[in-house]
Amino acid sequence: MSNKTLVMKFGGTSVGSVNALKNATQIIRDAKRDWDRVVVVTSAMSGVTNLLLDSASLAAKSVGATRESPLQEHLQKAESTLKEKHFAAADALIKNVELREATKQEISDLVFILVDLCKAMAVLGEASPRAMDTVASLGERMSVRLLAAVVADAGIKAKAVPSTEFVVTNNHFQNAHPDFKVTTEKTRALLNPLMDEGIVPITTGFIGATPEGTITTLGRGGSDYSAAIIGAVLPADDVWIWTDVDGVMTTDPRIVPTARTLPEINYSEIAELAYYGAKVLHPKTIRPVLDAGIGLRICNTFNPSHPGTRLIAAVKSNGKVNGKVIKAVTAIRKQKLVTIEGRGMLGVPGVAARAFAAVASTGTSVPLITQASSEQSICFAVPSEVADSVVTTLEKAFADEIEDDDIDRVWSTDDVSIITVVGAGMRHAIGVAGKVFSQLGNNDVNVLAIAQGSSEVSISLVVDAADTENGVKALHELIVQ
Ligand code: ADP
Ligand code: ASP
Ligand code: MG
Repeated sequence: MSNKTLVMKFGGTSVGSVNALKNATQIIRDAKRDWDRVVVVTSAMSGVTNLLLDSASLAAKSVGATRESPLQEHLQKAESTLKEKHFAAADALIKNVELREATKQEISDLVFILVDLCKAMAVLGEASPRAMDTVASLGERMSVRLLAAVVADAGIKAKAVPSTEFVVTNNHFQNAHPDFKVTTEKTRALLNPLMDEGIVPITTGFIGATPEGTITTLGRGGSDYSAAIIGAVLPADDVWIWTDVDGVMTTDPRIVPTARTLPEINYSEIAELAYYGAKVLHPKTIRPVLDAGIGLRICNTFNPSHPGTRLIAAVKSNGKVNGKVIKAVTAIRKQKLVTIEGRGMLGVPGVAARAFAAVASTGTSVPLITQASSEQSICFAVPSEVADSVVTTLEKAFADEIEDDDIDRVWSTDDVSIITVVGAGMRHAIGVAGKVFSQLGNNDVNVLAIAQGSSEVSISLVVDAADTENGVKALHELIVQ
């Protein structure tokens, strides 16, 4: 036994079925054998967070809903779906009748809270970010009880501990930021005594609470981040992210089924991949793990003997994998390019600074910026759903310049995707951009804009939404050729 601490996070699919929960239980049992102290972080069962948020959004739009309204029907369906999903697992996996019934009762109570909250939202006709976070939190609050009971029933000493009791955040609902100092104190005070007794604390990913106790969430997909936070503050020696694929792969296997696992990846590469759309790891996961100097591994609940991917501090040799400098390809969909253009822009002081300040005022983050060297236009990507409001805000910010014809227009494209190729070896390689362009050209994919990451480990290209799959497939061929 190593006398070391391991934090393991199970994603939605990894706790989403009877089979998955069986695997997760075995993985926890094995970890408990090899590690002295183990903490488990769980996501909601797959599909649950979406169902919860859809219910809340529908409720907010259903002012004055009657008994026969679509909301009532939706809520009844949501209620039975949530119960069936959790109860089926409880029935199959918790043999102890008392524990099983108590667990089902706790889950029923949480489902009841959902229905209640949605009805309140329908009365108010609004769903505030704060209320949305309370609704979104219910998925993890259900799954943590289920998983803890399943694991305990399998004879492993375990206890459900809600992360709202020790992950303390600001009140930036739907994207809350942890207060690391307070979180460190509380996490240690709560989890260490349990681990001292050989108990596995099983906690909720994704959620925290303000100092006053109001529930917050860390952003969609935020359970990975929870595991990193807990790992960093304990501190743990390793954080393992259990998901539904064999680690970080050369691209999303849903787009290219022949994608291969990358046995090792360095911090800057994974940061670019995660930031540019590789859903396998939440981008915020990397920083706490890096700062705390702890290990990170991504592995497959459905193929636990596969080593998965290990994060490493630096790339060996020149970063080439089998002589290729491009290691992985990723894509972010549903973006639009916003352009500010005009020949008079050259003379307008601080256009870029003012433009981005205006965009920031809408709460939008910009994943990609390009500026033509002539300075006659600035072009950047924003998520499609906010493009119209960003354009309106910019038109207001530059009303005088538009009036004076220094700026001709501010406009946005149809939906585009950002495809990014990543590889630390690109820093030293010549002609990568050329290869990327010819590969896309040879496959009839038109490039609308390009940007190179400042760390030089990535090149991003903007393509028409319809070209996303072809573009990713074509660029992936550069890796596997
Ligand atoms: P979890 O619920 O376990 O957090 P996610 O659905 O959030 O899982 O992330 C895992 C998914 O990420 C995979 O099923 C895969 O489709 C997708 N994915 C996207 N890009 C990559 C990549 N480069 N490597 C591995 N998986 C990827
Ligand atoms: N359940 C949350 C979500 O779906 C968090 C997560 O799965 O990481 O966004
Ligand atoms: Mg995820």
